Amino acid sequence: AENLKPPHVALLCCPGMGHLIPFMEFAKLLVQNHGITVSFLVITTDASPAQIEFFKCPKIPPEIQIIEIPPADMSNVVSEVTPLVARLCLTVRESLKPINSILAGLNLTALVLDMFTTQAIDVARQLSIPVYCFCTVSASFLAFSLYVPTFDRELEGEYMDRSEPVKVPGGREERVQDLMDPARNRKSDDYKWCLFHFRRLTLVDGILENSWEDLERLSLDAMRNHDFYKTISAPPVYPIGPIIKPPESIFCPGDAKIISWLDDQPPDSVLFVAFGSGGTLTSAQLTELAWGLEMSEQRFILVARKPFDALASAAYFRTKDDANNPLFYLPEGFLERTEKVGLTIPSWGPQAAILGHPSTGAFLSHCGWNSALESLSRGVPILAWPLYAEQRMNATLLVEEVGAALKPDVVVQPGKGNLIGRKEVEKVVRAIMRGEEGNAVRRKAKLLKESAEKAMKSGGSSFDSVSRVVDFWKSQ
Ligand code: UDP
Repeated sequence: AENLKPPHVALLCCPGMGHLIPFMEFAKLLVQNHGITVSFLVITTDASPAQIEFFKCPKIPPEIQIIEIPPADMSNVVSEVTPLVARLCLTVRESLKPINSILAGLNLTALVLDMFTTQAIDVARQLSIPVYCFCTVSASFLAFSLYVPTFDRELEGEYMDRSEPVKVPGGREERVQDLMDPARNRKSDDYKWCLFHFRRLTLVDGILENSWEDLERLSLDAMRNHDFYKTISAPPVYPIGPIIKPPESIFCPGDAKIISWLDDQPPDSVLFVAFGSGGTLTSAQLTELAWGLEMSEQRFILVARKPFDALASAAYFRTKDDANNPLFYLPEGFLERTEKVGLTIPSWGPQAAILGHPSTGAFLSHCGWNSALESLSRGVPILAWPLYAEQRMNATLLVEEVGAALKPDVVVQPGKGNLIGRKEVEKVVRAIMRGEEGNAVRRKAKLLKESAEKAMKSGGSSFDSVSRVVDFWKSQ
């Protein structure tokens, strides 16, 4: 009789839509498929407009209790120049100061953290409840992260000084130029914060990974079988993905217009162009992209964001939504000239619905992990355009190991950053929409769509992984 009460699990993710979205989908999966009660803890400090919008959504099931952690005062902690990861981690650290008292009152069965909220491991230990990490990045990046503390001890000098790739034990070889941004400077606060959280990853009871066997077998096998992971006492890794946003139900009139435009286009004919929640191009790059798109003469939907020359992650922490009118920053006449083949929408689009639409034939993406999962789960191949964080690692994985993406050639301009020229954009857009290479990656994406569906269904590998963890919670 004591088992009648369902397990109560708290989820604690860090700020950023790329974390909030899969955490919320995981919460829904726990309540809907497994009868678990979920408390969803939200860090409200510096909340982005997208986050505020997200929690207004009326479709959050009542079994998910939203608990807002009061905003922390960041005025003496971060400044305009604090880099992205440090800013994120400081926001988390300050926001989690009252976490003991919040969690103590909840009578929890288990706590599920994010890779960047590992401070709360200590509270879970005090409360004697098991603690898990839900990892919203690739299994390859997880394997790399578990290796970083060891590699860091052995490394002399900077990662970037090496000519050899970083060989993850039993797993991928990561080229130094692909490594996550924080690895570009080991003395940076960003790197130190990564190291802090990556070291603590071995302290949890299990890692729930948003990937699946067929997508990343190499890295998942490595973490299961390679001795290295035993020597660092890595927790078991449960591949439970792809956990992704279902296509948006259409609320605002703008979104409905986009979908009905797609309804009028032929199957697999539209290229969707978007750079996640934070991705921002320089004005020179945005101009080349727009010209290349126009010159390719392919159909497209472009999510346009005001360019920013100094920082590729400019939109991530933007607290005010700047007036965004693509007329002011796209090439003159672009909107009129492309009117018949393209839709340009400012700031944010219904990505999951667009990727799920049969007219969408490819995705020019920054390769954030959720975007990659959403695309492949819909059978849509990717044109890889990584910008920051671990996106270059994801892009290489998708092109070289998974085989469901193509990549443009990047021109390195000394002192001015990289540039993909308009002719290259034209060429690679045609290749993915029309060429033989495009067909090959599209076939692969369609196979992955089937395999993703199978993994998530009862009896599938990801479904079984979740069930194993949930059964353990229920036995507590
Ligand atoms: N997203 C969206 N509309 C947009 C841009 C992004 O719905 O215009 C969603 C997208 O579907 C995904 C998330 O925001 O679920 C972005 O996560 P991802 O990991 O791809 O990138 P990040 O934003 O973390 O860089």
